[in-house]
Amino acid sequence: MLEVSDIVVRYGRREVIHGLSLKVAEGDVVTLVGSNGAGKTTTLKTISGMLKPVSGSISFDGERIDKMDPHEIIAHGVVQIPEGRLLFPDMTVGEHLELGAVRARSGGRSYGERIDWIHEMFPILLERKEQKAGTLSGGQQQMLAIARGLMANPRCLMLDEPSLGLAPIMVDQLEDTIKSLNEAGMTILLVEQRVDLALRLASRGYVLETGSIALEEDAKVLLADPRVKTAYLGI
Ligand code: ATP
Repeated sequence: MLEVSDIVVRYGRREVIHGLSLKVAEGDVVTLVGSNGAGKTTTLKTISGMLKPVSGSISFDGERIDKMDPHEIIAHGVVQIPEGRLLFPDMTVGEHLELGAVRARSGGRSYGERIDWIHEMFPILLERKEQKAGTLSGGQQQMLAIARGLMANPRCLMLDEPSLGLAPIMVDQLEDTIKSLNEAGMTILLVEQRVDLALRLASRGYVLETGSIALEEDAKVLLADPRVKTAYLGI
């Protein structure tokens, strides 16, 4: 469904992604793990069109998206939930959901169906509809960031460090949310510092080291890999 082929990405003259390739099949959860600064966020931003690769290609459902603007990529169904949520503290929960729908992909669930689906999945967001985002707890803000992304009617959701700063109980809830989204048919590309969590959720994983893929395997195989255990699981 999503195919990244041999992309090179630079910030100015500094190359940070050196020919990276990855694939995400429809209905899968794929994770991209790696240490700080390896280039995970840069990869997601390149897929979502905020950065342009200097070479290589990115296609979604067989169509090149790497020359498209970010809003066109969203309208094609590829949506990134950014690291740190990036909410507007003075806007209400309801306003964020409306905003998420502005560039929505056509087809799939209607606006009303998406609202109902989100309220079913995150009842607290319905209760807090009129509340400003800045007054929500960290866990609620993460739910809102995901819900805003879902309002764009994605087919492929990219999550960047969703567990960052969450209390353990909220991390468990996040894990359930990602599972149920996937069970509902959502394709997911997950970037996550908690490598154990990421590899539990994913069927396939890529390990990124300084801008290149070092390992690519079934998630179960990676969980048992001694290199992954020492470098990322602290075992
Ligand atoms: P983290 O989990 O810490 O965010 P990451 O794997 O997502 O790490 P990136 O944020 O993609 O890594 O960063 C990859 C490299 O690019 C790093 O060396 C970083 O310093 C550099 N970098 C990131 N953003 C910029 C930028 N806007 N300008 C210049 N260099 C950048």
